[in-house]
Amino acid sequence: MPQQEMDPEIPDERAEKWCREFPIEDHEARDYAQLCCLYQIMGRCKRTWPRKVGAWMNLMIKLDITIREVIQREEYLIQKSSSVLGQIKAMKEEPYSQQNLDNWQDELQRLNQDYWRIDRELSLGCLCWSDTFYRPIFRAYNEVRKDPVWYLSDLLCNDCASRGGCCGRACKCCEKPSATRSRARGHCTKECGCCIEFRGFELKKDQQKLCQPAFNLKGGLESNAYSIFLFKAYILGLHDEFSHCF
Ligand SMILES: [Zn+2]
Ligand SMILES: [Zn+2]
Ligand SMILES: [Zn+2]
Repeated sequence: MPQQEMDPEIPDERAEKWCREFPIEDHEARDYAQLCCLYQIMGRCKRTWPRKVGAWMNLMIKLDITIREVIQREEYLIQKSSSVLGQIKAMKEEPYSQQNLDNWQDELQRLNQDYWRIDRELSLGCLCWSDTFYRPIFRAYNEVRKDPVWYLSDLLCNDCASRGGCCGRACKCCEKPSATRSRARGHCTKECGCCIEFRGFELKKDQQKLCQPAFNLKGGLESNAYSIFLFKAYILGLHDEFSHCF
């Protein structure tokens, strides 16, 4: 977008109205309205935002990734348990398999509590942000999520594929969210069962950062390239065409 088109003084209400006026399928118009939020913030703060705004964005992105890890791990364990139960019925390797089943059952109980906690944190994170000066960014975040399949943007599908996820293969698991959890929507994490089967092994701690690079948005627009990419994709919900504007 040319510099002269930036209008940092666009009132929040007008940006909100623009988004409401455009149908969810009109990515171009909605991306433009989302960029207005950014220019509102940048007009006030230059190329940065307060660290607490960066910390809030870090938290919301991290919670979104973590809750998918929990859901994908649950699904993987349930699938493995059902396969081992079949083996036990066929009287194969019973003592070893029964021990695995007990361990997985314990882990599933812990995951159930983790899901509840992260689900609450995500809901509270959406409710508690009341600093009106930085309201545009909060508004942008919520606007993105009015589209039930916001996470299937070209940016996030490409990110999933480049991290070795299912979007890079024909299975297209990310387009078929499971019905087990209301937040079971999004892309592959290190716990995706389909990715583990494809890879042939579960990732060790030192391998996990290659599956999900680190990010930190406390540095405003001077943050590293992957963090800015996540800002565009998760917070503003931009599509590829508009993602090169800054
Ligand atoms: Zn898959
Ligand atoms: Zn996957
Ligand atoms: Zn994906």
